[in-house]
Order: sequence, then C-alpha cells, then structure tokens
Amino acid sequence: MKGKVYLVGAGPGDYKLITLKALECIKEADVIVYDRLANEKLLNTAKENCEFIYVGKASSNHTLTQDEINEVIANKAKEGKVVTRLKGGDPYVFGRGGEEGEYLLERNIEFEVIPGITSAIGGLCYAGIPITHRDYASSFHVITGHLKDEEKELNWKALAQLDGTLVFLMGVKNLQNICTNLIKEGKDKKTPVAIINWATRYNQRVVTGNLENIYEIALKENIKPPSLIVVGDVVNLRGKLNFFENKPLFGKNIVVTRARSQNSKLVEKIIDLGGNPIEFPTIKIEEIKPNTELEKEIKNIEKYSYIVFTSQNGVDIFFNKLVELNFDVRKLSDLKIVAIGPATAKALKDRGIIADIVPKEYIAESIFDELKDKLISKDNILIPRASKARDYLIEKLIEICSVKEIKIYDTVLGDANKEEILDLLESNEIDYITFTSSSTVKNLVKIVGEKNLEKLKNTKLISIGPITSNTVKSFNLDVYKEAKEYTINGILNTISNDR
Ligand code: SAH
Repeated sequence: MKGKVYLVGAGPGDYKLITLKALECIKEADVIVYDRLANEKLLNTAKENCEFIYVGKASSNHTLTQDEINEVIANKAKEGKVVTRLKGGDPYVFGRGGEEGEYLLERNIEFEVIPGITSAIGGLCYAGIPITHRDYASSFHVITGHLKDEEKELNWKALAQLDGTLVFLMGVKNLQNICTNLIKEGKDKKTPVAIINWATRYNQRVVTGNLENIYEIALKENIKPPSLIVVGDVVNLRGKLNFFENKPLFGKNIVVTRARSQNSKLVEKIIDLGGNPIEFPTIKIEEIKPNTELEKEIKNIEKYSYIVFTSQNGVDIFFNKLVELNFDVRKLSDLKIVAIGPATAKALKDRGIIADIVPKEYIAESIFDELKDKLISKDNILIPRASKARDYLIEKLIEICSVKEIKIYDTVLGDANKEEILDLLESNEIDYITFTSSSTVKNLVKIVGEKNLEKLKNTKLISIGPITSNTVKSFNLDVYKEAKEYTINGILNTISNDR
C-alpha cells in the first residue's frame, strides 16, 4: 500500500471558491491536515472516517512548527494513507508548499499540488478592488510583509518605484514600517491603501486610507491578521465595484433552528446572500418504526380518494415506504393529492407527482378552505403526518367525510449546542433567529431554558407564518417580523428587505 500527499489550495475563505480537483482530494483523503485559513466547512465533504489534524498557525501562535507539520504529513503517507494537506489560498503563494514538497520528495513520497485561488487576488476581488485595471495599474506585485530573516530588508527603493498594485501578505504587524519605507523611497504619500481582514468571508472587514494615514486608521479600527494590505490607485474602484459587501445579508449572523436534515436550503441561501448561518438544530425528525398502520393503509390505498401531505418529511417517509413495499406509484393515480405548500409540492414533484391542490396560504386552515366545497360524504382522506400535529384539520374534515390520520414521524429535541447560543446571545452577536415551525420555537425554549428567555429579547425573531408567530408570543416574546409567504423564501425575503 502506497500513501500519497496532495498539497491542496483551499481558496481564500468563501468555501465555494475551491476547485473541483481540490474537492476530489478532500473526498478521497484518509487524513486531512489543515490550518486556520482553510474554511472548516470544507471538511464536511470528507469521508466518514477521515482523520482531521489541525495545525493552527495564527501568525505568532503556531500550533505545530513547520518541521512538525512536515513530519505529520510524511508519517501518515508512510502508513499508506492518502493525505490531503489543505492550505488557505494557493499552496505556493507564501504557503510554504514548496518546502513541504521538497521534504516529501527527499523521502520518496509521492505528491501532487492542486493550485487554489490566492487571497492576494481573490481577496481583493471580494473587497471590490480589481488587482489590475487599464487606467490605474498594469502590473501587480505580491510581497511578504513578514520576512524569514528580519535583517534582510526588502528592496524598498525598487518597490516604491513600481507603478503596479502592491499587495502585502502577513503585513499587519509591519504596517507602519511598510508605509514609512515606501514614502521614504519616493512613493506618493497620498497613494490609496486598503486593508482587507478575513477577505471573502461573511466577517470581511475593510478599511481604507492612504500611505500617510492608514496606520493610524488601522490602529483605531483594531485591524488584526489575517489581512491583505493593498497599495495603489485601484483601491479607489472599491466604491463602485464592491458587490460582496452590498449583498443583502452581508455581515448578518442568522440562527437556523430547523432540523439539520432539512436546513440545507436555508443555510445555503443565507450564505449566497452574504450572511453567516448559525446552525442550531432544535428538532430532529425521527421516523416512527416499525409502522404497521402505515403499511396496512398503503396496502388498502384504493379505498382512499385523497392524500394530504403537510410536510416534506411526510412525503419522504411515505414514498420511501412505498418503495420498500415494492408498491407501484401508479396505484395512486385515482387519488387526489394535496400538498400544504410549495416545498411539499416540490418533494412530490421529485417523486414524479404533481400535487392536485396547493392551498393559497400554506397552513392547515387554508387546506380546509380549499377542500371543503370539493368533498362529499363518501370521500375518504388519508393524512400521514407528524405525531404532534394540530387537531384542527382532522376535526374540521371529519365533519364532512371519513378521515384517517397516521402518525409517521416524531419531532424530537435536536442536538443544538446550548452554551454556544447563550454565549452568542450574551455578546449580542446574533442578528436574527428564524423559526420555521411551532416545534422549533418550543424546542428552542426547552434547550435554552425558560429562565434564559430574557436573553432573546435583543435579537430579531423571524417567524415563517401566523401559527409559528402565535407560539412565539405564547412565551411572551415579540415576533419582529412574520414572513409574507409562509415558506423558506418568504423568510429570506423578509430578512433581506429588513434594512
Ligand atoms: N497561501 C495563502 C497565503 C498564506 S500566507 C494564499 O494564497 O492566500 C498568510 C497570509 O495570507 C495572511 O497573513 C494574510 O495576509 C493572507 N490571507 C490569506 N487568507 C486571507 C483572508 N481570507 N483574508 C485576508 N488575508 C488573507
């Protein structure tokens, strides 16, 4: 068995700024060795039993020395493992990837290098700064602000004479020195400068000034590493080209309380809109197993004239059961199928079924309004749904015809981390908490505890619709806004327009 090492560029921070090849290396790895500039979210795509080794590197606070890192990588490869060494940006741009490669070569260990988008270019882009521009800069120069040998100074005279954009990496601690030297060697002291902290991430922060005043500004703004220092006229384009910080949810911390198995759409969209989703799964969906009642009704499906689905989970569990029982979906062709809302209808569509009825408002009351004039006493309705659902729909329908409710899943308490959320609440770091059902509200209260509810009063609580809002109010909390359309998109629109 022969091991192999991939030196992989993880891109500048936004985890989607990674190459297909790098993703393959992450998926294939037995061991992933990563540092703080590689977005940890990327680790979610690794194999189940992959080993993760964090090797730190906050500039002065190395968790492992470079020699130790080299050794870890080589030893794991010698054990016959596939090792992915995940590095921020590009592995060969001040990433010491060259040194790691040489070390492996000397030990006859096979390795490959996957380039990445370097922060020195991609980071500027997300700050609205094009690194070249025909009117302002026809070259660029990427320079370390942190020298291996402090005695060996950079050639400041040569740097000061360059017309192109200068980008300093690892330079925050040396900022004053950089500015003084450039001015001393003749660069105009009014040359624009930007400092970009945590570029391409939701917490990106940019300050601008010029060579003469940027040091004071950075001090005042408490700018820390990792940051890029950009010197040149292209900095002035930021006002126009700053697409990233203008995204509607940029800089917003948004708590998602849905079950982990269902939250991906909300989480993804928050990220696309520039926000930071904080996953706090208050519920977990647990299918009721075994479910002889469900099996029995599926076998008797011909006796029903309607099936009502009140959630995507209901659709998934019901149709998985059909497959398990080797049941041909064409047997449903005589039934009318009702979906409570577009997400449930979409889940049906994924199974090849177009819902016959989707009510105007996505709540049980609206389903009843839609059905009441269509039903006759001979109708027979099957409702596979959550065990703790409201009684309303069944009570109303039963006045008209036969109704069979089958409980097919429980919503139990999720594995959300109470301490984490309380810390964030206490430091006022949460902008919004989103509630997508009454159970997310009730369970959040259970997890944080009634005595801590006071702490929720400083954040904006967003509810998906009137039923959920009532549950929020029942705990004496205020609903900041309720979605106009009772869907995930409705929630996203509500917070995107809240400016
Ligand atoms: N190989 C990396 C650079 C590693 S050196 C690359 O190609 O991007 C580490 C330095 O890179 C940091 O000190 C900082 O100057 C810069 N850097 C990397 N990622 C950054 C980010 N997201 N925001 C700001 N600076 C970053």
